[in-house]
Amino acid sequence: MVILGFWNDTRLTISIKTSGLTVGFEHAGRTVVYGYDRVGRLWTAMENDISYRRGLNGKVIAKWREEGNLPARRWLSAAEAEAWINRAHHQMKALLTSITQQEVALEHPLPAEGLHLLNRAANFDVLHAAADAAQFARIYKPIGILPPDQYMAVVLQATEGCSFNTCTFCTFYRDRPFRIKTPEVFHEHAQAVKAFLGEGLSLRRTIFLGDANALVTPMPRLLPLFQSVHAHFDVEALGGIYAFLDGFSGEKKHSADYAELAALDLKRVYIGMESGNADLLRFLRKPGDPEDVIRTVESLKQAGVAVGIIILLGAGGHVFARRHVEDTVAALNSMPLDLEDLIYFSELIESEGMPYVQQAFEAGLRPLSPEECLQQGQEIETRLIFDEERGTPHISRYDIREFVY
Ligand code: SF4
Repeated sequence: MVILGFWNDTRLTISIKTSGLTVGFEHAGRTVVYGYDRVGRLWTAMENDISYRRGLNGKVIAKWREEGNLPARRWLSAAEAEAWINRAHHQMKALLTSITQQEVALEHPLPAEGLHLLNRAANFDVLHAAADAAQFARIYKPIGILPPDQYMAVVLQATEGCSFNTCTFCTFYRDRPFRIKTPEVFHEHAQAVKAFLGEGLSLRRTIFLGDANALVTPMPRLLPLFQSVHAHFDVEALGGIYAFLDGFSGEKKHSADYAELAALDLKRVYIGMESGNADLLRFLRKPGDPEDVIRTVESLKQAGVAVGIIILLGAGGHVFARRHVEDTVAALNSMPLDLEDLIYFSELIESEGMPYVQQAFEAGLRPLSPEECLQQGQEIETRLIFDEERGTPHISRYDIREFVY
């Protein structure tokens, strides 16, 4: 339900949805919009031409367009994030006061549900935000990364860390050993997640089974975890279960295993193939071969599970560039992909402490510039051939610097 109105000379748009509350303020050509989930968590905003997104972990990213329509982003400092929350808090509190004092001209009276959500939104101040983020940190180990179409998922950490942790370009899970949760521990975790999200669950789409390699879990241990997900959540209403799998341990599961998981609503598995070139994978210390990924994709597709394949642009710099393109095109073209599948191109982002940086330096690799990475992705994409009857997978970019949860 959308209710329009005027608050002095500010045009108001109040939108009440099953997923939460959005309030827009338009004044003298400036537009500000704040979005809240149903427990009143501020999670998104637009202030003039800058968009903000707050993760459940309390971190806030700001994004805008620079000259030439180039995308730019920056994580807010703690002080900036507090100032942003304060701005929203004061605006919503003032609006609530004016509405209760009947100083706002609304085209329809605000229904009780709208008033209730507005009350919750107006209460979300810096203290609430800090308490919420602290509770999140008690329930979760830091969530390293998700595929971009899963940023709004309910993440459940069935496992922690990565069973390999050897890839030189990946620092997501260096801080923790790999472990598979027991059904009891996972049950408590799922219960805590559900209580934490509360009515905010309605904003979430899908269930993502974390961390990096949840599906490496042997079937006898994995099935009870899937069943536990079903016991706590309406999986069908949420759109099914999604997870990462390194293509290499995936080989140990067969199509019949994946069919069993598909019957428990496993919808899509994301595989960081990185490259179709085996030498480059060895250089990156990624275990296994591209053939393993191809076989895993075949098994998954046969079981009716969709895949998301992630390709690491710029990996191996100029030395590997040609082989990376040629073999990645060949590997992707040999997979039985269809319109349910995804291909992500993710640019290699070098960061301090990443073993790849030193390794590449020692090997005399010249890194690819962002433009060269873009071209590499474009070349791979233009050479992909898909079966007309099966349809074309969705292909898009994946910038890990924008990950927020
Ligand atoms: S398998 Fe994936 S999560 Fe594990 S270290 Fe390699 S890239 Fe990182």
